[in-house]
Amino acid sequence: MTEKIQAIRGMHDILPEHSARWQYVEAVLRRVLTRQGYLEIRLPLVEKTELFQRSIGEVTDIVEKEMYTFADRNGDSLTLRPEGTAGCLRACLEHGLLHNQMHRLWYLGPMFRHERPQKGRYRQFYQLGVEAYGMAGPDIDAELILLNARLWRELAIAHKLELQLNTLGTAAERQHYRASLVDYLRGHYHKLDEDSRRRLDTNPLRILDSKNPELADLLAAAPSLHDFLGDASTAHFERLKALLDAVGIAYTVNPRLVRGLDYYCLTVFEWVTRELGAQGTVCAGGRYDGLVAQLGGRDATAIGFALGMERLIDLLDDPERHDVAQKPHACLIRVGEVAEQQGLRLAEQLRDQLPDFRLIVNCGGGSFKSQFKRADKMGAGLALILGETEAANGTIGLKPLRDETSAQQVIPQTELISHLQHYL
Ligand code: ATP
Ligand code: MG
Repeated sequence: MTEKIQAIRGMHDILPEHSARWQYVEAVLRRVLTRQGYLEIRLPLVEKTELFQRSIGEVTDIVEKEMYTFADRNGDSLTLRPEGTAGCLRACLEHGLLHNQMHRLWYLGPMFRHERPQKGRYRQFYQLGVEAYGMAGPDIDAELILLNARLWRELAIAHKLELQLNTLGTAAERQHYRASLVDYLRGHYHKLDEDSRRRLDTNPLRILDSKNPELADLLAAAPSLHDFLGDASTAHFERLKALLDAVGIAYTVNPRLVRGLDYYCLTVFEWVTRELGAQGTVCAGGRYDGLVAQLGGRDATAIGFALGMERLIDLLDDPERHDVAQKPHACLIRVGEVAEQQGLRLAEQLRDQLPDFRLIVNCGGGSFKSQFKRADKMGAGLALILGETEAANGTIGLKPLRDETSAQQVIPQTELISHLQHYL
């Protein structure tokens, strides 16, 4: 026998038995976003490598080691998108949507990063991305955070998520801070781990993000970026906090929250959970006003977040509930040629008149017994039975498959639709 070909490590199939929970979450996301005026933008999965190098930054984990980069047939360097912000901005710049305009946008789809696969961390994973352009104030920052909170409530997982909030100030403020942080860390060089030593020259702020418990005390005593903020940055942050307070959104200010990417400024936030082990960040976002100019546009303000769909779905209570919701209400069983034709007509009428009724018409024939078995395996609640007798006298049999207590009955075909309405 020839060997079977397997999927690529870290890239998973979502099998039909689990797709309903995805559809449920996606429907909730779409509804909430649409209600608040966010429009979908559909973007390519592949972009020029340069786009990510210029936006995400050369010395980030993503660009240094996680991108799927390859040469196109003409030699261009292309990359499977590791995130959506850069592509979204590229598209809006290209189509002139950024200058003096406001946009609320979202996209949902796969992202690709060559990471070590583990629970909650994959090489192909799905993100919902939301981006808001052209709004400079903390009001839109608050709107995005509230939008998150609404999603968690609608998905009944709000009690599992906590909001962490920080401000990164402006690039200039960060530059000052960076110098003082590097001074401090150099003074304690012998205490740093290998990762942090490497980052000292390339991305020192990222050291604050270290999960190594042995660095905790050292980092707690490090200078704080908040001491380097100018009045405008402080005011932005204070107004955001006041807005969140006004609507009762709880948050923890975490001065060590720096995010991995280079392009953030001012507001950054993460929604974290204790329920998913090491992969505890479900949603992360921030403001990135400088990125538009960095990609060749005129200055424009922007803020967005990205939400990891796998981690979100892992937080659902009782996800099986949604899988059950796509099982058929009924399966139609037919024996004999007359019944086969009559049954098809009935099924079509039923589908016309009860659009929410899920009916599978058994194909592939077989005895009553084998068709019952199949209906049962499909998880149908009810078998609709058309044999030669029923077909001849215009009746149809109804046999409950999940409920032992209710008996089989035979009704006129003309009453079928009104009867089945009760099953919806
Ligand atoms: P992490 O610290 O977990 O690596 P990140 O900072 O790289 O996250 P972002 O680039 O901000 O993550 O992406 C936003 C969200 O996308 C994350 O909070 C997470 O929910 C999800 N995510 C990121 N990388 C992966 C991955 N490899 N597999 C599954 N989900 C991911
Ligand atoms: Mg990462």
